[in-house]
Amino acid sequence: MNSPAAIETVRGWIAAAKRVVALTGAGISTDSGIPDFRGPQGVWTRNPAAEKLSDIRYYVADPEVRKASWQSRLDHPAWTAQPNAGHLALAALEKHGKLHALITQNIDGLHLRAGNSPGRVIEVHGNLHQAICLSCGWKGPMQKVLARVRAGEEDPPCTECRGILKSDTISFGQQLVPEVIARAMAAASEADLLLAVGTSLQVYPVSGAVPIAKDAGARIVIMNAQPTQFDEIADAVLNGAIGETLPLICV
Ligand code: NAD
Repeated sequence: MNSPAAIETVRGWIAAAKRVVALTGAGISTDSGIPDFRGPQGVWTRNPAAEKLSDIRYYVADPEVRKASWQSRLDHPAWTAQPNAGHLALAALEKHGKLHALITQNIDGLHLRAGNSPGRVIEVHGNLHQAICLSCGWKGPMQKVLARVRAGEEDPPCTECRGILKSDTISFGQQLVPEVIARAMAAASEADLLLAVGTSLQVYPVSGAVPIAKDAGARIVIMNAQPTQFDEIADAVLNGAIGETLPLICV
């Protein structure tokens, strides 16, 4: 639980800030019904074998991993999820003119759905709503490929070159898009307050945004139910539920 005094203090900092940079992770979307990876109910916490589905090396090497991935994409909660109070609070922060950038590790597209503008949202790990060919680089709507899976293709190849298709997201073992991560780190260095929300801050290099902002003189606020490696350099750590706490500090 967060003390009312801690919430009031952070609220004051945000009111005074001019360039808030939010760094979000899977924890902001759990209230929308999308499980995180490493929280108590996380996909990997409950089933460590599921980590294979998120690793590009297994995905490319093993058709069985791809078939399992396509089946799990069919049922992904992102297709029906709605933005929750946490997403809406960050959209409000942008409306108030405070949000310099929103760096997200999430692939669910919910920040854009909540009303944050594409010019402010930096999706460092891509977006699940788009599919990509690993050979020729073709990109297209994920729902079109999922329709082929539903029609019986267990591992649908690219219609242009027969290459391997996957979601246009960054899997473990896969290179980030250099311009996108560079934009994220530049934004972090321009923040006067960095707000890390719902992320275990274990995924590099994006978690490096926290020390970059700190070194550039920003206040650091971490909002996460579990401890993170950067709690000790944070000016405030709020452990309460994001959906309750974020709307209180973003007004
Ligand atoms: P993570 O699973 O490593 O950490 C999420 C953290 O959020 C956990 O420490 C958990 O305790 C906390 N949390 C969960 N719900 C919370 C709540 N309601 N209130 C407060 N804290 C809460 O997630 P990560 O750091 O984002 O790293 C996982 C990687 O997998 C990222 O690349 C991420 O984008 C991806 N991923 C994305 C989604 C999505 O798009 N929604 C879902 C799962 C994983």
